[in-house]
Amino acid sequence: MNFYLGIDFGTSGVRGVVINQEGCTQAEIKYAWPSEGVFDLVTTWETALFWLLRQVPEPLRREIEAIAINGTSSTVLLTDAAGKPVDAPLLYNDARGSVVLEQLRDIAPPHHNVLSATSSLAKLLWMMGQPSFKKARYFLHQADWLGFLLHGYLGISDYHNALKLGYDVEQLKYPAWLEKLQLPIQLPKVLTPGTPIAKLRPEIATQFNFPNDCLVCAGTTDSIAAFLASGAKSPGEAVTSLGSTLVVKLLSRTRVEDSRYGIYSHRLGNLWLTGGASNTGGAVLKHFFSAAELERLSGEIDVTQTSGLDYYPLLRPGDRFPINDPDLPPRLEPRPDDPVAFLHGLLEGMARIEGRGYDLLQEMGADTLTRVYTAGGGAGNSAWSGIREGVLGVSVVSSVHTEAAFGSALLAMRGVDGFD
Ligand code: ADP
Repeated sequence: MNFYLGIDFGTSGVRGVVINQEGCTQAEIKYAWPSEGVFDLVTTWETALFWLLRQVPEPLRREIEAIAINGTSSTVLLTDAAGKPVDAPLLYNDARGSVVLEQLRDIAPPHHNVLSATSSLAKLLWMMGQPSFKKARYFLHQADWLGFLLHGYLGISDYHNALKLGYDVEQLKYPAWLEKLQLPIQLPKVLTPGTPIAKLRPEIATQFNFPNDCLVCAGTTDSIAAFLASGAKSPGEAVTSLGSTLVVKLLSRTRVEDSRYGIYSHRLGNLWLTGGASNTGGAVLKHFFSAAELERLSGEIDVTQTSGLDYYPLLRPGDRFPINDPDLPPRLEPRPDDPVAFLHGLLEGMARIEGRGYDLLQEMGADTLTRVYTAGGGAGNSAWSGIREGVLGVSVVSSVHTEAAFGSALLAMRGVDGFD
């Protein structure tokens, strides 16, 4: 039997999933980040990675054919020539790069996805101004560095992680405007996610009882790994994530980009994963209701009726997608006395924003929406699914799997084959 190990380095911890050749889960492993105290990030990552390898049940471990890792998008670090980090990594949401944005605007084409304080390229330019840069030789994403710990080769990435570094995922090369800078650092060689890079280092294979020919593959980002896990695979299929915010991703044969709306496309085989994120979502629900209330009150909603309310639920003014207006006011009035009616209005308002998001992607040229998978805290809310089905006009189903680690395990098994 051959098994495949996917490892997800997420925002709350590390997860591992082992699948067999039929894509059935054989084992799940979880490791939560320490909740308190200052800790050394790279040591914590390394400890978690090897702890996780040890937790894979021994009979499975002996037959793991391939491993793939996903990290959080735009979590980056610099290492020396031996792969030792020269400074603390910058996490996905670190906005210190805001000070180089002016400089970046002179370098990158207008509206390019690197023009954000948290992009990998903004982080690299910021790092270049730090004293530790003198010792740096390689610039890596979190998943690249963790992969290096397993296979031993430095300077390798994948085209999902490299998108916000400025890599041209259509031409599959670094663009001329980036090459022209002649950055004094080794940028990663970029592979298709899931491509085998090398065998697991022999000393690790021996120590942990993995096969000698176990392969370590190019990884991906956390949100793409979650998409891979969902079961969506044909153009027109989409995944909505109903977490703290509302994120939509629509698989398409056409690439769409519009930085005004924060819309960009990841490459997935020969297809494009188009998408955008709204500030509406579960955080607004959480502000008004407890989890128990959400469950109880949702069950009382008559989804065959409309709420009669016209909300744009936000916690504070401003949204980017599907309406690009930094001052967009939250619309939460009038508020009925009946909490069921109020919740109905909120869920319906969010469903309309979701629908408008998919409309916008389609107006820009993405494939026609055919089916929506759902992930995140709101995915299990059947009343909401009913409301969304009415608004979206297509079937709304739960994601087959929601674990990003499961998506990475699929990537280890078959790469991006199937997305063509
Ligand atoms: P994130 O990872 O973005 O923090 P999660 O996917 O864990 O988010 O989802 C958390 C969100 O799910 C919360 O903001 C909460 O309001 C929402 N949520 C939890 N239970 C329900 C429910 N029954 N119906 C709708 N939303 C829910």
